[in-house]
Amino acid sequence: MIERTLVLLKPDAVERGISGRIIARFEDAGLKIVGMKMIWIDAEFSKRHYAEHVHKSFYPTLEAMITMGPVIALALEGVEAVALVRKMVGHTEPKTAAPGTIRGDFSHVSIHYADAKGIGVKNIIHASDSVINAKKEIELWFKNEELHTYKSVHDVHTIA
Ligand code: ATP
Ligand code: MG
Repeated sequence: MIERTLVLLKPDAVERGISGRIIARFEDAGLKIVGMKMIWIDAEFSKRHYAEHVHKSFYPTLEAMITMGPVIALALEGVEAVALVRKMVGHTEPKTAAPGTIRGDFSHVSIHYADAKGIGVKNIIHASDSVINAKKEIELWFKNEELHTYKSVHDVHTIA
């Protein structure tokens, strides 16, 4: 039941200087950071990460948004971490994301607005949506030697 999941702090989060506040939420929940790095991805890498969306009409704006600056990639570990992190991240559309979620607290635009402007939906963060995709995404973003196994206080006080 201990899972790993991929989180990306998208360029809009990095450029707004809110990365630390977002990472703190995961640390506060007791999730363990097992990998972390900053990468500026290109169009080719975007197509690999967002392979399921490449054929969709909004993909060009998504690619422009995710390649506009560096992202911070995190591999997080914890009990049923994939679903937990999705819950903390909130709905894809910032307008719909509930207060208390990361997207709900740090963003507000609608998909309708982004589509009308021809820009990507700046929703701060990505999180893997299934255990299978989490495994694939962590393999895409991290080399084995960039992922670390260590004991945190949560292994003693939260998980045990
Ligand atoms: P992410 O994969 O980035 O974590 P998500 O899993 O909540 O987001 P997906 O359905 O995987 O949502 O969509 C990937 C990204 O594509 C979204 O984060 C958003 O920026 C963009 N997107 C999704 N649906 C639309 C849409 N209908 N119109 C415009 N952009 C969209
Ligand atoms: Mg997704």
